[in-house]
Amino acid sequence: MSAQLITGGTVYTADAQESVHPGGAVLVVDGALAAVGPAAEAERAVAALTPEQRAGLRRRDARGMMVLPGFVNAHWHEMFAMRLPMRGALRPASDRDDQVAFMGGGGDMHQVSATFDRFDELIDAMTPEEAGAIAEYSMWTQLRGGVTTLGDMGSLNRPHAMVAAARRLGIRFSASTWASDAICPPDGDRPVRTRDTDGVLAGVAELLELTARDTSGRIRFRPSIAYVTNMTDELARGMAELVARHDLGFATHVGALRNETALMRTYYGETGVRRLAGFGLVDERLMAGHCAFVDEDEQKLLLAGRAHISHSPGKYGPSGESSLTETGAVPALRRQGLDVSLSTDGSSMPSAGIAETMRAAWQMYNEMSADQTEVLPTDALAMGTRIAAKGLRWDDQVGSLEAGKQADLVLVRADDWRYLLNPRPLESFLWLAGSTDIDTVMVGGRTLVSGGRAVEVDEAALQERYLAALGSFSTRALRIPDEVVGRVLGGWSR
Ligand SMILES: [Zn+2]
Repeated sequence: MSAQLITGGTVYTADAQESVHPGGAVLVVDGALAAVGPAAEAERAVAALTPEQRAGLRRRDARGMMVLPGFVNAHWHEMFAMRLPMRGALRPASDRDDQVAFMGGGGDMHQVSATFDRFDELIDAMTPEEAGAIAEYSMWTQLRGGVTTLGDMGSLNRPHAMVAAARRLGIRFSASTWASDAICPPDGDRPVRTRDTDGVLAGVAELLELTARDTSGRIRFRPSIAYVTNMTDELARGMAELVARHDLGFATHVGALRNETALMRTYYGETGVRRLAGFGLVDERLMAGHCAFVDEDEQKLLLAGRAHISHSPGKYGPSGESSLTETGAVPALRRQGLDVSLSTDGSSMPSAGIAETMRAAWQMYNEMSADQTEVLPTDALAMGTRIAAKGLRWDDQVGSLEAGKQADLVLVRADDWRYLLNPRPLESFLWLAGSTDIDTVMVGGRTLVSGGRAVEVDEAALQERYLAALGSFSTRALRIPDEVVGRVLGGWSR
């Protein structure tokens, strides 16, 4: 790979000092960052290159652009197979009859638990070809929005297909499995086991082995459990043992919904964080998803364990969740020094990307505290890059623009009316821009998106394959009548 020098842009490093370099430069050599900073510094690094590297040096003029670290979405679920039924394409055009449901109103916990447990059955019903086509299209939408490192926290898709799709797209991917072995049925007071725990753990171990054989450097593995409501003691113990033995990160949803607290007490005799702590799972390896409905003792456990919270303020309102404002626990924990990062979570349709989630955090945290410095634009950026990478335990290589790290970066045009005379283009980006304004996406020095378009894959073909896979999966596995699927997809197929 030849060397590339990107000059003239406003470089936001998201390093520990949140350094910004107006008219700065980034030197990429063999896929890694060789220099980041003022132009003169980068030119000195160029002068130190070998004659061959200098001869092959490409220069990119990034004047009028922002140069940002690639976004790290460390809490995501692939769910595009559910585009039709799940808050999806089968809804009427008018939203006037929408009702509070599922995650809304504090969460219909029995339904949440049962729905999550059904994922396995749906994954089994998906052919490997369908899984691949759906995964590739879904992951492409993340890459298009500037995500260069994607962390699966359990998906409605086949892990092998997702790993293969990540390889084809060139995106960095932390793989996981969907792990649920119990439900909390209505009118009961104890969880009901739904599958053999050893089988669930065997799937985890198998994916660990597969990802350990990766030679690209872009595939890693992090085990996860779907939700603390769907976890037998055996599953928690088995996972804790695996995580400790291989020194892996671990992720789960906990303290996500208001009604979770009462359900956990009834069915497990203990709320989520305390339950995890009982299995030794509340430490620096833990990424807790949402984690807003936690009592004082649980907050102390999170702080003492130096756990990590990943949450998704860009999606809470539209899904009827109140996990940012209702308790204020996550901003409070962040003020006390806990690492809190931003993520998109999963949905069957494209929803708020990392850019929109940064905006939501910038606006909502500051509104809650009546303090516009609580989350500065550069803080929001760090929460979607460096801090998220730390939570995913990938900050050794990605998450900030610093010499020695991988050249994962995003370029955004910042020269139109939205940015006029603003010395802080990131602020204008959070005000008025978003995922669709991402111009260039680079992973390990390889340009995958340029001018907002795919460089290496045919976007139209990806969409076409997705629709075909969605159609066959929806009719066969979801038993949606042929004519309904045909009618809904017909207008979008070539
Ligand atoms: Zn989630």
